[in-house]
Amino acid sequence: MKLPAFSYCAPTSVDETCALLREHGDDAKVLAGGQSLLPVMALRLARPALLVDIGGVGGLDGVEVDSDAVSIGARCTHAALERHPIVRELLPALHLALPLIAHDAIRTRGTIGGSLAHNDPAAELPAVALLLRAEMRVRSARGSRTIRAEDFFESYLTTALAPDELLTSIRFPLGAGLSACAVREVARRHGDFALVGAACRVSIADDGVAARVALLGADRVAVAFDVDAAVLGEAPFDDGRARDVSRELADRLDPPEDVHASSDYRRHVAGVLVERVLLEAGAKLGEATR
Ligand SMILES: Cc1cc2nc3c(=O)[nH]c(=O)nc-3n(C[C@H](O)[C@H](O)[C@H](O)COP(=O)(O)OP(=O)(O)OC[C@H]3O[C@@H](n4cnc5c(N)ncnc54)[C@H](O)[C@@H]3O)c2cc1C
Repeated sequence: MKLPAFSYCAPTSVDETCALLREHGDDAKVLAGGQSLLPVMALRLARPALLVDIGGVGGLDGVEVDSDAVSIGARCTHAALERHPIVRELLPALHLALPLIAHDAIRTRGTIGGSLAHNDPAAELPAVALLLRAEMRVRSARGSRTIRAEDFFESYLTTALAPDELLTSIRFPLGAGLSACAVREVARRHGDFALVGAACRVSIADDGVAARVALLGADRVAVAFDVDAAVLGEAPFDDGRARDVSRELADRLDPPEDVHASSDYRRHVAGVLVERVLLEAGAKLGEATR
């Protein structure tokens, strides 16, 4: 399908990008990897008059570690992050989720910032950002601000970004102490968007092992839940406790129904996946503490 007509510009700095977004407001759209925006335009679901291509903007593709966080530039591609040693070592949940996104060709062009700004409920990265309590660093001609993941993903394909704002980097805080992660999903075919997915991070707390679980495809936006340490006990977890927790979380969901799956099916799969990621992450943590 042919794209509708649009104008195109290729700024080389964040300031120039922000000036263009301020000047054109709702008529402009940032173009990153184009893997979501261009199909949406081809389907006539968006008709921006101007595409602001950030492919040549400097300073948006670094991965940096400081004492308590990893910051990732918004234009880093899924493929580059999948191979990045810092991501593999310090952000295992992200490392496990990246290969589940689409196919190599799409991961080579698609960016972390594009995925988070697009906010598809079935995408992996919004769920991982929620799981890890990421913070979005945003710039506009009006200034800078930081938005917590909990406040960023507002609803279906909608975020807290204003039309004149550019997502520049994502900060992933590193928790103190030992932790372990697991990510699982169910898709009809390898590379398809998942029907449902679950990611989990477990970490040692004073009274046991605390868990945080995030789900994709289980609601109209990615969702996350915290499970108190007292509920799960020591790692590895008891099967019955993990099952009880997963059933209780699944009951809180209100999954969408569409041509791919019914609401009940999504709720059931979500419960099964939560149980599996809890047990898997709990087993990894148990192994690490032995
Ligand atoms: C066939 C196919 C299968 C796919 N399967 C999956 C999948 O299984 N899982 C998955 O998660 N994704 C999947 N995707 C989407 C893919 O991951 C995209 O890369 C991603 O959603 C968007 O990233 P992008 O860089 O291509 O963004 P673009 O398409 O360039 O932009 C997407 C949106 O984000 C905005 N935007 C981009 N960057 C910024 C920024 N820095 N600041 C502000 N706004 C910005 C754009 O204006 C646009 O509205 C699939 C795509 C295709 C075509």
